[in-house]
Amino acid sequence: MHIPTHVLSGWLIGNIPPLNKQQRLWCMFAAAAPDLDGLGIVISAQAYADYHHIHGHNWLAALVISAIAAGIFRSQRVLMAVMTCVLMHLHFFMDMLGSFRGAGIPWGIKYNFPFSKKSYAVDWGWELGAWQNYVITGIMIVIMIIIAIKARRTPLETLAPSLEKKLYKNE
Ligand SMILES: [Zn+2]
Repeated sequence: MHIPTHVLSGWLIGNIPPLNKQQRLWCMFAAAAPDLDGLGIVISAQAYADYHHIHGHNWLAALVISAIAAGIFRSQRVLMAVMTCVLMHLHFFMDMLGSFRGAGIPWGIKYNFPFSKKSYAVDWGWELGAWQNYVITGIMIVIMIIIAIKARRTPLETLAPSLEKKLYKNE
């Protein structure tokens, strides 16, 4: 799925347990972290094709990023590691579903990479540009707005706090 959809999934799930601003920011990062393997695009199309959807989309990458979370956060260390692992696996699942290559061809996840190149896929997903991805993103935006009203916080809380303040100023 698209990166903003992954980031939004991290925001929504990061609002379930009682976390602080930095932890919620991390949740947004963790939810999109597998796509760091797509940064090869700045080098070449070949690097993108070789690394994307492979190096960051496996259990070892989830383990490494979860261990980093446990190292960074002093409070709720275990919770943050578990949240990171869950969010990265949610990313894998979302990609299996909504990132088909086109013409009904799945884009599988090499979950055991680098130990195995076996690809795992479902055959009932859809393409990246399909309407389902936009509906899912739309539902997530509605939930984000509900959180913004009820909990008075948005994904801007750490990224653009002054902008968020302005949002609530006129109430
Ligand atoms: Zn991905």
